[in-house]
Amino acid sequence: MEVKGEIYRVAGPVVTAIGLDAKMYDLCKVGNEGLMGEVIQIVGDKTIIQVYEETGGVRPGEPCMTTGMSLAVELGPGLLSSIYDGVQRPLHVLLEKTGGFIGRGVTADGLDHERIWEFKPVVKKGDSVKGGDVIGVVQETVNIEHKIMVPPDSPASTVAEIKSGNFTILDTICTLTDGTELQMMHRWPVRKPRPVKRKLTPEKPLVTGQRILDGLFPVAKGGTAAIPGPFGSGKTVTQQQLSKWSDTEIVVYIGCGERGNEMADVLWEFPELEDPQTGRPLMERTILVANTSNMPVAAREASVYTGMTLAEYYRDMGYDVSLMADSTSRWAEAMREISSRLEEMPGEEGYPAYLSARLAEFYERAGVADTLCGEKGSITAIGAVSPPGGDFSEPVTQNTLRIVKVFWALDAKLSQRRHFPAINWLNSYSLYKEDLNDWFTENVAPDYVAMRERAMDMLQTESELQEIVQLVGSDALPEEQQLLLEITRMIREIYLQQNAFHPIDTYSPFAKQYKIMQAIMKWGDAAMDALKSGIPASEIVKMESKDDLPKVKFEEDFEGSLNTVLGKMDKEFAALGGR
Ligand code: ADP
Repeated sequence: MEVKGEIYRVAGPVVTAIGLDAKMYDLCKVGNEGLMGEVIQIVGDKTIIQVYEETGGVRPGEPCMTTGMSLAVELGPGLLSSIYDGVQRPLHVLLEKTGGFIGRGVTADGLDHERIWEFKPVVKKGDSVKGGDVIGVVQETVNIEHKIMVPPDSPASTVAEIKSGNFTILDTICTLTDGTELQMMHRWPVRKPRPVKRKLTPEKPLVTGQRILDGLFPVAKGGTAAIPGPFGSGKTVTQQQLSKWSDTEIVVYIGCGERGNEMADVLWEFPELEDPQTGRPLMERTILVANTSNMPVAAREASVYTGMTLAEYYRDMGYDVSLMADSTSRWAEAMREISSRLEEMPGEEGYPAYLSARLAEFYERAGVADTLCGEKGSITAIGAVSPPGGDFSEPVTQNTLRIVKVFWALDAKLSQRRHFPAINWLNSYSLYKEDLNDWFTENVAPDYVAMRERAMDMLQTESELQEIVQLVGSDALPEEQQLLLEITRMIREIYLQQNAFHPIDTYSPFAKQYKIMQAIMKWGDAAMDALKSGIPASEIVKMESKDDLPKVKFEEDFEGSLNTVLGKMDKEFAALGGR
């Protein structure tokens, strides 16, 4: 039902209306152009609306009405490969409708209502069904089967009629005995988490093929991680690597108001990326939600929820989904701007007091779950944070840190030294390590965990020794410590550094990660033994095989070249002999 009111006040993206009988989060049409907005506060007879479009030129006295519905997304076949704005309007439709630039008051359906899909039922007349159950499937892309589910909030009923064949997403494909007609599409309000049967403890890692992530700071599938870092430190490259290589089936990428040209890069680059799992375009299993900073803040605020709801929908089918939000700082800034327009009491650095609650609500929607249809699905949520000046003590980074369980801290100093990924191994952490130990022991190697901890300890010691080295130079250190610095240099340069743009090095399977680390440790142990038997460190570090080792990770025949180097290493150590 549409109730008409009138605009009373306009303050940037925040419009106050009177005469509206609205509920919180109702969707409204604002002004003569019918701009889209959402009720965010009701005070007495005044309804406060955040508008998703530019409000320049909108004046008091213009009409305003509520639609009685909350901001919802269309869910059904056709989501994959789409590029949306923050309120699920397909960007190409917006551009077509407005002739090249995105105008105002344009409505566009999230899904193509005319496209024909082949629906194959999996239930028959007389079967009982309830919310979340799968009634049929559609081959959405070459590799992704889309499950058509009864909307999660529907009561239990029985199938009265079910069709098979070619339909649009609006055609009725199933009728229930209670009279409900089901289509391939349903709508879901973005601010309401989609229900699951139960949430489970994540116990498998997200396999990313990135050595520092998998090896030292693993995130669980269904876990949460943050990538904070200053401009140019590698947030986007890391998120793209994760999108491309992680062993999830679906990727939702929310580009949340980075500078316009950066988002444009993502929009150009993503459609070009090849899916290494299938050799087909990565976009076939990706949904992009794009908000540049020249789009209004309210749409930016909504985009995070839109993206999360799309991720939940595929999780409900039983898929593993990775959700990237780049960057959550821009989302928080949108909250700050809206909050200040509402004249709310500002919290730290002007952010609203509910900043941490909103961040927590967002990350809580990630997880592994038993879905209503009896499958197991997951959402791994990874948020980039761009603290001004790279200062991690600011509120968005700090609040995120309290919520997420993995922290991949990007470091400007490392990126300046061209150490990539520029993830600082001393500041980063993963709280999933312990939970995943069994998995690593069973699936990678029995000594994998111990080796990782040993490497971490050595890196820690290195950072302590560095201080001394800076004061007095490395020659002043005992020989054993000089050798230790040699081993940690190898860990950093061979194991931790990984070139995202090298065709072989860009992805490192677990077996390779393990063997690289094992080779470094082998050299380290043999070197320490040699030292004990009286050979000077200066001689040990001259070995050729040690210098051959860094090249091995770039070789197509990794195993072969590694074995050659290891063989050479044995010979060289034997030749050194003992004194
Ligand atoms: P941010 O998103 O933090 O501003 P980018 O992700 O755009 O930073 O990274 C900046 C640059 O750093 C990239 O263009 C690339 O040259 C380099 N870079 C970052 N990560 C890697 C990596 N893993 N391998 C190689 N180069 C990298």
